[in-house]
Amino acid sequence: MNITSNIHHIYELFLNSFGPQNWWPGETTDEIIIGAILTQNVNWKNVETAIENLKQYNLCTIEQIHNANIERIAPLIRSTLYYNRKAKKLKNFAEFLFIRYNGDPDRMFRTEIAELRMQLLQIKGIGEETADSILLYAGGKPVFVIDAYTKRIFNRIGITKPDWNYSQYQQFFMTNLPQDVSLFNDYHAQIVHLGKHFCKRKPLCDECPLNNFCKKKM
Ligand code: SF4
Repeated sequence: MNITSNIHHIYELFLNSFGPQNWWPGETTDEIIIGAILTQNVNWKNVETAIENLKQYNLCTIEQIHNANIERIAPLIRSTLYYNRKAKKLKNFAEFLFIRYNGDPDRMFRTEIAELRMQLLQIKGIGEETADSILLYAGGKPVFVIDAYTKRIFNRIGITKPDWNYSQYQQFFMTNLPQDVSLFNDYHAQIVHLGKHFCKRKPLCDECPLNNFCKKKM
């Protein structure tokens, strides 16, 4: 099997085992963006707690974040760790959106993808994974998201290399899959599911749907 067939085959194994993941868990574009910024280095359950708090205090839109001060936001997102820094990141994003796009995410997402990605990466505190999560899950753009689970799983399977940088992993997926937003959306969600439940630090290879396929297991 060549690499393209392998990547497709892995996705079929995911789908057959886990079914569609129906991501992203978020009700509005603003909420997805806020979740994408808060989720770095923390369990999604902690992000849910933070989002519930923000909703309770009417702070779960970018406009509300823009109008609030950091001291008001930070305690509400305490569950996401590094909460002062994350509050600042939320404010930085809101400021960017208001200065550049008059606070309108739809207007922002009309910008050409590579240009918008570059703009997002210039916001202090927004890295590649966050920028790509915003583009894919909030903007519906065909951008593949790479995270620590992606690297761990595909390195263990043996079809990517541990010394690759973010762009190399991303190119690997984006050149071997069709530019399909739904596929990119669900494929990343499947990877996260496998990483959380099977391909952990100490992997549960015997129960893993990829175990006939994985170099580490074999
Ligand atoms: S077989 Fe084991 S190492 Fe390979 S992907 Fe599954 S859990 Fe990870």
